[in-house]
Amino acid sequence: MMGAAGQSGVLIVGGGHAGVQIAASLREAGYADRITLVNGEPHRPYDRPSLSKEALDDASAAQDFSLRGEDFFASRGIDMVQARVARLDRDSKSVVAQDGREWRYEHLVLATGGRPRRLPVPGAELAGVAELRSLDDARALRVALEAATNIVIIGGGFIGLEVAAAAAARQRHVTVIEGSDRLMKRVVTPHVSEIVADYHRSCGVELHFDDRVTEIRGRGGVVGAVLTAEGEELAADLVVLGVGMVANDELAAAAGLPTDHGILVDQQMRTRDRAIFAIGDCAAVEDESGRVHRLESIQSATDQARHVATTILGNTDPYSATPWFWSNQGALKVQIVGVGNPGDRTVVRREGNRLSVFCLRHGRLVAIESVNDPGTHMVGRRILERGEVLDEHTLADGDYDLRQVAKRAVRVGGRS
Ligand SMILES: Cc1cc2nc3c(=O)[nH]c(=O)nc-3n(C[C@H](O)[C@H](O)[C@H](O)COP(=O)(O)OP(=O)(O)OC[C@H]3O[C@@H](n4cnc5c(N)ncnc54)[C@H](O)[C@@H]3O)c2cc1C
Repeated sequence: MMGAAGQSGVLIVGGGHAGVQIAASLREAGYADRITLVNGEPHRPYDRPSLSKEALDDASAAQDFSLRGEDFFASRGIDMVQARVARLDRDSKSVVAQDGREWRYEHLVLATGGRPRRLPVPGAELAGVAELRSLDDARALRVALEAATNIVIIGGGFIGLEVAAAAAARQRHVTVIEGSDRLMKRVVTPHVSEIVADYHRSCGVELHFDDRVTEIRGRGGVVGAVLTAEGEELAADLVVLGVGMVANDELAAAAGLPTDHGILVDQQMRTRDRAIFAIGDCAAVEDESGRVHRLESIQSATDQARHVATTILGNTDPYSATPWFWSNQGALKVQIVGVGNPGDRTVVRREGNRLSVFCLRHGRLVAIESVNDPGTHMVGRRILERGEVLDEHTLADGDYDLRQVAKRAVRVGGRS
């Protein structure tokens, strides 16, 4: 057990995917000094993506979503402490918890994740308005879904849609209100938005686009209806907020570290203080051109963690990894690899409910979005990771075996 100031080594704040992975990777790589993981939640670290998927199933009450076994941390000499860090003092290289405990560090890793974005409308604090980030949120939401009749989900992004699928599976009346003109607009092409919208409609989910919530109206102290800018009044006994995440960067900001919707880090995931790193959802990475981007995915949380473990052990390479993401929405499995942008050319392969969209920039594959098409996705991903120029017609031909493309493609390393 920890507690006294004066102990050093690596101190990790946050016991999510990023925090747990860096502790594990440091030990795997032979780091022999003290590792302390300060975990702000009253649970053993758990799998967050499951919260909008398996954890909403009826059978989930008995399920264990722990990331690692009970003795994982102790058996590796990782001190796991349950506490919320309240203050960071860079001069003395120490952090102080809300309960007054204090730890010193040689290297500090901030892996504080994020929290759900709140909706700035009247009624957002009413009972019956739910958010989903923690295991406790998921447990409460599962019970609420069971009891509700009319469910309004605000936000047509991944989390909102996963919850919509869980609610529709219970035969509830489900409405999704999305402010833009299509689902998941920030991260997928219109092709994927369309097939996903068709699926949710086929499950009975009502989708409202280009509208925004102006008020959540209470009845007898609990939520009763949702009012929108378009003049709709939708009956609701459960409202689920799926309007994005805010990075937990206040600890860093209060200690004088620059932030920009996340803790600003360089390409080694280092903050302006060389002894302090930030990884996962709380980290905003600044690239060579000064562009800042923050990814919210398991892949980036764990890959950044693995990378920083090697950096602490002396590696000087910048972090680099191809991003990927998945989302399960009822019978739909959405997979995304790479980063597309609106100027990319798209080539679509579609067969019934199976779809893959290839995003090309200067002939080179930069992203693939697939729906229920894991085979094509995996082959495409191998092609993407090798950075090759591709023939669009071949890609578009659904009868053509993409594995042949992978074999024939011409390598053009370094082209952008
Ligand atoms: C419902 C849901 C579904 C998702 N589904 C997917 C998916 O399908 N695929 C995918 O790739 N990604 C998914 N994500 C995103 C993914 O879970 C996150 O990108 C990932 O969990 C980020 O890990 P992290 O360790 O950076 O942060 P987190 O997992 O948020 O962990 C941060 C931890 O730090 C703790 N903390 C914060 N401040 C302090 C403090 N001051 N002191 C101590 N502890 C502190 C927090 O309590 C938390 O436990 C989903 C997210 C949610 C919420």
